[in-house]
Amino acid sequence: MTAVAAATSVWTAQADTAGGRQPQARVSAPDARPQDQVAKVAADIAHASDRGARGVNITIDDGPDPVWTPRVLQLLKDNGVKATFCMVGTQAQAHPDLVKEVVAAGHRLCDHAVSHDTAMDTKSEAYQSQQILDAERMITKASGGVRPQYYRAPGGAFTPYSRQLAASRGMRPLGWNVDSKDFERPGVDTMVATVKREISDGPTVLFHDAGGDRSQTVAALREVLPWLKQQGYSFGFPVR
Ligand SMILES: [Zn+2]
Repeated sequence: MTAVAAATSVWTAQADTAGGRQPQARVSAPDARPQDQVAKVAADIAHASDRGARGVNITIDDGPDPVWTPRVLQLLKDNGVKATFCMVGTQAQAHPDLVKEVVAAGHRLCDHAVSHDTAMDTKSEAYQSQQILDAERMITKASGGVRPQYYRAPGGAFTPYSRQLAASRGMRPLGWNVDSKDFERPGVDTMVATVKREISDGPTVLFHDAGGDRSQTVAALREVLPWLKQQGYSFGFPVR
C-alpha cells in the first residue's frame, strides 16, 4: 500500500503537466496514430534504489505488431534482456500468438488500454474503465491467462481514477523516465544519444514496437542494449 501511495503522489504531480503533451505529439507525429510524448515521469525514481542505481527497465509500447515485435524479441533475446511490453488491447486481440511469445520469453505484460486514446484523461470514468478493463481482458485472453502487471495510460494520459482502478486490479501505474523519442524517427544516432544522455534520470526507458516503421527502434536497441551492459547497468522490471 505504501508503494502504491507513493506512486500515486508522484503521478499526481505528473498530471499537472499532461496538458502540454498533445500539441507537441501531434505536430511531430509521422502518421495519424497517437504517440507517447509526455514529459518525463518520475514514478520509478523513488523506487530506483530498491534495485540499485544501475538498473534499467526497457519498456516496449503499442504492439504487438507482426513485423516489429519479433525483431525486438530477437534483439532482447540476443542481449539477454527482459522487458515490459505495454500492449494495446486491439493489437493483443489481433495477434495472440505474439502475446504468447512475449510471455514465453520471460517478458512482462502491461495494459496500454483498448484503443490508445491519448485523450483518455478528458473522458468519463465509465469510458476510462472500459478502456482499461477491456484491454486487461483482451491481453489476458490472448496470453492464455497471464495477466498484465502494469497499466500505462496512452500518451501518459493518467487520471487519479485510472491509476486507482489499475492498482485495484493489481496493475501498477507505469510511467517512464527516459523517452527515446523513437516514435518520431529522429534517426538512430539521435535516439542512441538521447538514451545515453538521459539514462541517469531514471531506470525506465520508452521504446515502441508498433505504430509505423520501427526499423530505427530496432537499430537503436542493437546499439543501446550492449552499451548499457558495458556501462554496468542490469536489466529488470519496474518495481511493483
Ligand atoms: Zn503508446
